[in-house]
This record gives sequence, structure tokens and C-alpha cells, in this order.
Amino acid sequence: MEKKNIVVLGAGYGGMMTVTKLQRSLRTDEAKITLVNINEYHYQTTWLHQNAAGTIRDERTKIRIKDIIHPQKVDFIQDKVLSIQPKEKKVMLENTVLDYDVLVIGLGFEVATFDIPGLEEHAFTINNIKNARQLREHIEHNFAVFHKEEEKNPARLTFVIGGGGFTGIEFLGELANRVPELCEKYNVDKQNVRIINIEGSSTILPGFDEQLVEYAMNSLEARGVEFITGAILKECTPTSVLFEKHGMQTKIPTYTTVWAAGVKANSIIKESGFTTNQGKIEVNNDMRSPEYDNVFVIGDCALIMDFEKGKPYPPTAQIAIQESEAVAYNIKAYIRNQEMEGFKPNILGTVASLGEQDAIGVIFKSKKILGWKATVMKKIIDNRYLLKLGGFRLLLKKGKFNIFPRV
Ligand code: FAD
Repeated sequence: MEKKNIVVLGAGYGGMMTVTKLQRSLRTDEAKITLVNINEYHYQTTWLHQNAAGTIRDERTKIRIKDIIHPQKVDFIQDKVLSIQPKEKKVMLENTVLDYDVLVIGLGFEVATFDIPGLEEHAFTINNIKNARQLREHIEHNFAVFHKEEEKNPARLTFVIGGGGFTGIEFLGELANRVPELCEKYNVDKQNVRIINIEGSSTILPGFDEQLVEYAMNSLEARGVEFITGAILKECTPTSVLFEKHGMQTKIPTYTTVWAAGVKANSIIKESGFTTNQGKIEVNNDMRSPEYDNVFVIGDCALIMDFEKGKPYPPTAQIAIQESEAVAYNIKAYIRNQEMEGFKPNILGTVASLGEQDAIGVIFKSKKILGWKATVMKKIIDNRYLLKLGGFRLLLKKGKFNIFPRV
């Protein structure tokens, strides 16, 4: 059998798990596996809100790729993917060109700003380690300057978060927890700090269970978060944000607007000429592109319809991980000329953290959990991933074990 050249683009949840599975299941004489990623580390995207608020160190979220991959089985190339030429079976990187027999696209998501004026230029986002760090440093800088400046400028300590979905709410929880520490460090009265959430729908966490939404709002309001729902963000400048509610426009002076209300698939897909649906590749049942039978797509780059709900499954780490297992299986079948299997996401539950000590969630299809139980469940989910990816060694190094509530 001819040795196949498998190239995996992106070391996110999907890419890392695919490679981990492939290195276990394929022999070195049947495949050469190459993983390409822009950084030398994999980061846990689902922890980035903690990095952005400064409640967890960046090193905790980062996992060195070379600590996970098997050097005899996987070549790791740290480089930036510029484009894919699927007809020629080539990938253009910043520093080289790669040929492939089988391609896996796992390049994740980008922030979508929907052409709202000023957002792309002036709003902070939480989509990788670098911009999470920029946001954290900016927040701390404003506390430091506020402390020193003679004429206090309230805009420095007004933090506006656009979007009350999962990312926005999880960040609010972390920021609300970090504020008392920053107030103490910079000798700032907490009364000077405002954290405002602007959400377009009539409620935060649209589509989530009403009772849990109410619990989340109460938990965050008790820590000083203000909610403005049914409001559309209209413009962002370095010193203000403008929103519209009931036809009336209001400007909030702020040095910090965080945009957490939109993601789209990596634009490389569309720019490389793949046929897309909402910017993603609508994959076949076996996770392959309908146009190229040697191209598999995973995670936030893949679109799978949830026919029961009549809309696509949401982009989540949970689904990316499940997909990668199916993709690894199907690649093995593909190169061995065996039958592939179909994939259907199995949603085990959804848990949103509201800071270190609080969370809400739905598990086992309909069981609601909140408070301490939900925080434990969130940590179990995080730890389970670490165990799957790197075994006990990784779990012990990076795992979250502080499961008891603070009294
Ligand atoms: P990613 O994990 O985004 O990985 C893509 C990889 O590709 C990255 O390593 C990136 O550096 C690399 N890359 C991108 N472009 C290039 C390029 N041009 N060249 C080379 N490398 C490149 N989901 C959940 O299930 N549960 C949660 O609780 C949850 N919480 C979240 C909280 C936050 C703050 C955010 C932002 C997202 C959250 N999500 C959650 C969504 C989840 O993180 C994504 O759905 C998931 O990361 C998608 O995985 P992926 O493998 O497709 O891409």
C-alpha cells in the first residue's frame, strides 16, 4: 500500500484530537502525518475568558504541541496557513508549500463584526491567547491610570461587553470576580467600576432555559453587572460605544468595549474557493467536503444541520472533539479502503461558567444544574478533555481540581 500524506491544518480542539487519534491508530508505513499551526502551542479556547479577565495564567491555557504529538509519527510545522488549493492538493503556508493526499481543515473561527462601524478597529475580542492578553493588560492599565490621575475619568473603569451569549456571559463572570482584586491592588473604590452587558435579544443566553437565565442574571447583578437587553450596538470608538434601544440611541463613554457577539468560520475556507454555507463547509455525513473526497472538515469550519431543530448545530468544542474522533476513524478507513462511518453530534450537555464559583447548565438532555454542582460539572468537562488529549500526565499538569466552594 502506498504511504499516504495526511495534512492537518490547525491545532485547536478538532485538529489536536484528530492527530492524537491518528497517531495511535495508523502505522508509520501507511501514513505520514503533518500538523500545521500558527503557534507552537495549542490553547484551550474555552478558557480564554479567564485569561482575558486575568483569573488564570496564560501558561495554564497553553499546551505545548510537542508534548502531545509522537515525534516519530507526526511532523509539526509551526507556520501560518495562507490558502488551500484543493484541486492541486496543495496548502500554501507563509514559508513553504505542502502537498497532501488527505487534508483535514480545523482552522477554527474568526470574530464577525457585521460591519458595525468602529468595532473591528476599537473593540477587544476574546479569540486567542494574544488578544485575551491585550484585553487583560488594557483593563489593568486603566485601573492603574485611574488610580494616578488627578481628575478621575469614569470611562476608564466602564467596561462594556457586547453580546450576552456564552462567551460574553462567561467573561462577565470572570471580570466581576476580578474587579475586587484590582480595586484593592490600585486602591480604587468599587463604586467607580461599571460592567455593562449589551445584548440584542430580549434576554441574555437566548434559547437557554428561562430559570437558569434568571439565575445567571441574579448571580452577575449581585456582583455589579448591569444588563441592557433588546439593544443593538451601533458604533464603537476608542472612548465610547453607541447603542440603540426602542429606536433611541444612547452613548456610553468607555475605554473598553469587548465584542463577544459573533463568530464566523476562518475566512481561508471561502477565499480558497470552497462552496460555503454561512462561511463554513457543509460536510457530508462522513465529515468530508462534498466537492473533494480527500478533504475532511472539523470544528467551527464545518457545518452540520440539526434536522430536528431545522438549523445548524452551534460551533462548540464539544462537537469539534466528537467530530475529530469520527474523522480519525474515517481517514483510517479511507486509506485502508474500508467503509467509513456517519457522524451525528451527541450533545451531552451545556454548562456556562459565571466565574470560578458559579455556573449554570443542562446535562443529560434536560437536567438543569446550577451553582456549585454546575461548577463541578464544568471542571469535569475540562478535565475530561485533558485526559483524552494527553492522559494523566496532562491532566495532573493542567487540570482544574479546586472543586469545593469558598466559604
Ligand atoms: P479552535 O479551537 O479555534 O482552533 C483553531 C486552531 O487553528 C487554533 O490553534 C489557531 O491558532 C489555528 N489557526 C487559525 N488560523 C490559522 C492559520 N491561518 N494558520 C495556522 N493556524 C491557524 N465551546 C464549548 O463546547 N463549551 C464552552 O464552554 C465554550 N466556551 C467558549 C468560551 C470562549 C471564550 C470562546 C471564544 C469559545 C467557547 N466555545 C465553547 C467554543 C469553542 O471554543 C469552539 O467551538 C472551538 O474552539 C472550535 O474548535 P476548532 O478546533 O474548530 O477551532
